[in-house]
Amino acid sequence: MTSFMIDEAVNKRTPLKWTSYDTCPFCNIIANKLPAFRVLETDMVIAFLDILPIRPGHTLVVPKMHCSNLSDLPSDYSRAVGEALSTIANAITRGMTINLNVVCNQGYGQAVPHVHFHMVPAPRTVEPPSTQSPTNRSMNHHEMVMSEYHRREELDEDTGRNMADRIRSRL
Ligand code: 5GP
Ligand code: ZN
Repeated sequence: MTSFMIDEAVNKRTPLKWTSYDTCPFCNIIANKLPAFRVLETDMVIAFLDILPIRPGHTLVVPKMHCSNLSDLPSDYSRAVGEALSTIANAITRGMTINLNVVCNQGYGQAVPHVHFHMVPAPRTVEPPSTQSPTNRSMNHHEMVMSEYHRREELDEDTGRNMADRIRSRL
């Protein structure tokens, strides 16, 4: 699977920003010009697995309209996205784990300038703070985000197919 972001991730570089419609990876997925493991699609929304999952099942919910900021998204798309979030949350919690993080980055931490919600199933266990190294404790916010980013690995074909099937089957 290809992505505008994979080269940066594999080579551990800070991701570029995409600013024009032609190069927006999500518009290309919507237009079927880029592959993705789709879990849900309606007239107004698409949801697919993140190509660099933070945790297994990491899903992106995306309005089918190129708009950078959630705060600028027309309300009919917001409603459609909200409904998709709820439907997919229900599918994930019935199939994997009851705990989820749902995040929409606007500007800060946003690499792809097309509104999207990250739905990330929670880890099964959380390390207690006492196991963190002093190095971790002294990291600033940006360093922490980058250290998490560098730990992520590309979604492989089998895992992607199975995970998308699992979520789709519970919609
Ligand atoms: P942001 O940092 O903008 O909130 O998150 C963008 C997300 O989009 C990242 O988690 C990244 O892995 C994901 N992403 C970027 N390009 C692609 C792509 O081509 N396909 C898929 N499935 N995900 C992508
Ligand atoms: Zn777009």
